[in-house]
Amino acid sequence: MTPGPEGRIEVITGVMFSGKSEELMRRVRRAIIARRAVQVFKSHLDDRYSGIRNVSSHDGKQIDAWPVSSSTEVAEKVDDDAGVVAVDEAQFLDRGIVDVANALADRGKRVIIAGTDMDFRGEPFGPIGPLLAIAERIDKLHAICVVCGDRASRNQRLLDGEPAAAEGPTIQVGGAESYEARCRACHVVPSAADAQAELLVKG
Ligand code: ADP
Ligand code: ZN
Repeated sequence: MTPGPEGRIEVITGVMFSGKSEELMRRVRRAIIARRAVQVFKSHLDDRYSGIRNVSSHDGKQIDAWPVSSSTEVAEKVDDDAGVVAVDEAQFLDRGIVDVANALADRGKRVIIAGTDMDFRGEPFGPIGPLLAIAERIDKLHAICVVCGDRASRNQRLLDGEPAAAEGPTIQVGGAESYEARCRACHVVPSAADAQAELLVKG
């Protein structure tokens, strides 16, 4: 199949609170203004906005974000005539999203994907790394480090207000009550902190 002129992959990535969803919705609104047929998906795990999130443009058109639990579901739900396919919270999806995104772009669709690139340990998160590799366009956004005010790039998971241990599950959905945006210097990597403490004890 000959790809349409718009076939491409755009990835919006970065730490939590860096404005990835805002940027994704901005692009979606502009695509609606351009009269493209737009479909928005997001991981079903993210129900922080009470299920389905509405996106509306200034001319009053509204669009829903469909909750999906797998990359297959995204592939199945994409309409043939969709010009733009947006996926939010893609770090929670399986690796299959890489092939799905490629296939959709090959079919001429503009694929916009947002997701955080590192887990709370500072390690690559799910399919986002491979998605960055195949994307035509990447925007890495930063938040504000809540400790020092510098540009934040890392997710700090909190448990009772303290950095959580490395052993916890990689996927644990939460907002400001359980995560902070921090810069490299202020981010506490739990396992490294434990090893450091051990070294100090041993003298
Ligand atoms: P993301 O999708 O990257 O998690 P959102 O688009 O949902 O981000 O939210 C971005 C908004 O979060 C910002 O516009 C700002 O109002 C708010 N915010 C809360 N904490 C921070 C922070 N530490 N740094 C920057 N923005 C923050
Ligand atoms: Zn900092």
